[in-house]
Amino acid sequence: MSRLQEIYTEYARMRDNGLDTKSAINVLRPHIEKLGKADRDELSATIKAYEMQLAESPPPSARSASAPEPAQGGKGGVIKRINPQQASAPPESAAARKEALPVSDPDATVVWKEAAPQLVKCPTCGKANQRGEVFCYACGNLLEPPRNTFDTNILSDGDSKPLESEFFGPESHLVLRLRGSTESYDLRPQDSAHELVIGRSTAGSAMNPDVDLKNKQAADLGVSRFHLSVFHDKENQAVLVSDLGSANGSFINGQRLLAKEVRVLRHGDELRLGRLVLIVSFRHPGGTTR
Ligand SMILES: [Zn+2]
Repeated sequence: MSRLQEIYTEYARMRDNGLDTKSAINVLRPHIEKLGKADRDELSATIKAYEMQLAESPPPSARSASAPEPAQGGKGGVIKRINPQQASAPPESAAARKEALPVSDPDATVVWKEAAPQLVKCPTCGKANQRGEVFCYACGNLLEPPRNTFDTNILSDGDSKPLESEFFGPESHLVLRLRGSTESYDLRPQDSAHELVIGRSTAGSAMNPDVDLKNKQAADLGVSRFHLSVFHDKENQAVLVSDLGSANGSFINGQRLLAKEVRVLRHGDELRLGRLVLIVSFRHPGGTTR
C-alpha cells in the first residue's frame, strides 16, 4: 500500500468509528505533511468522495439528530439539490446550517457545497477556502489548525479543582510501563508538534505510531494500528488522551473511552488498550515520581 492509501485507509477507519474529520486529520497530520502536492490533491479528492458517501449512508456510529432527511420525491436518496440562488443566500440559523449537506451537481462531478457557504481562512497563507476542504487551494497546506486547548471537551469528574495527580508541566515526563514488565516508554507530549499516537506497526507500513507496541504481543492483545492519541494541554498543564476508533477500545481504570471523548490522564492510572495494560506515571525532574 502506498502512503497515500494508508493515510486514506486510516482516515476512513477513524471516521467509520465515530471520530470527526478534524480529529482524524489531526492524527494523520504528520503523515499528510510528508505528501507531495499531487498526492495531497488526490487525498483531498478521495476524502471528499468518502464524506459525500458518508452523508448519503452514514454508519450507525455517525447517525445523529442532524442525519439527513430523504430528499423530497427521491427514491430513498438523501442528496439535497441546492441551486446557486440558495447556495449564495445569507447565512441561516445554526440549526439550518447543520442540515446543510454536501450535494452532487447535475453533471455528476463531485462538488462540495453547503446551503450557506462558510469560508475558512488558511492558517498558513490566509486565503479563504470553502469549509469542508482539507487542503488550501492556494498553498496546499492543511486547513485545520492543530488541536488546541479551546476545542478539547474535557469531561470533568465534577471536581473543578485541579488534582495534583494530573499536573503535567513543561518539564514533566509521561512514563508508560507495561504491566508485568519493567519495560517502559518515556514520553514528552509537550515537545511534539503533533499528537502522539500509541499503536502497533504492521509489516510493510510506512505509517508507524509514535509508540509502537508491535513487539509486545499487541496484535494478539487487540491493539489497533492507530489506537490512542496523547497530547499536552498546555493551558491546564495536563495530559489528554483520546481513543482513535480502535477495534477493542481504550480504558482508563476500567472505564471505556467513548468516541470523540477526551480524557485527562493522571499519575497512577491504569491505561488499557484492548487487553494490553500500561501503568501511567508522571515523572517530574528534580523530584521523585508523584
Ligand atoms: Zn493556504
